Amino acid sequence: MVWAESVPRVWRERVRKYRLIGGRCPSCGNVTYPHRLVCPFCGYEGLEPIELPRRGKVVTFTVIRHPPRGFEGREPYVIAIVELENGARILAQLTDVRPDEVRVGMEVEGVFRKFREQSSSGIIEYGIKFRPVI
Ligand SMILES: [Zn+2]
Repeated sequence: MVWAESVPRVWRERVRKYRLIGGRCPSCGNVTYPHRLVCPFCGYEGLEPIELPRRGKVVTFTVIRHPPRGFEGREPYVIAIVELENGARILAQLTDVRPDEVRVGMEVEGVFRKFREQSSSGIIEYGIKFRPVI
């Protein structure tokens, strides 16, 4: 049974993506998300992977009414800069909230959600979105 082997692999992959892994710069101390090799603040190469807290608050946000290709059909949606509990700021989509309910300072938490479906290939991308803390 092939799928009996592939299910744990898919699950591990999901767990890896579900964790919020950013990169911490040993030189200037800034944290970036997603993890990348070069620090956008000081240019240092060799950021260390770091698991980020899943909770934070909305610093600023914008409502997307004319989405880029591949994201059509769910507008309007909200893109926000979220400041996490450790002070790192990440850009993320909000979910489970109407655009007119979003407020600066709103407490949010990261959840694992579908990003988009590629209808021709059937591939579905998943990633982190943020929703209000209830
Ligand atoms: Zn740096």
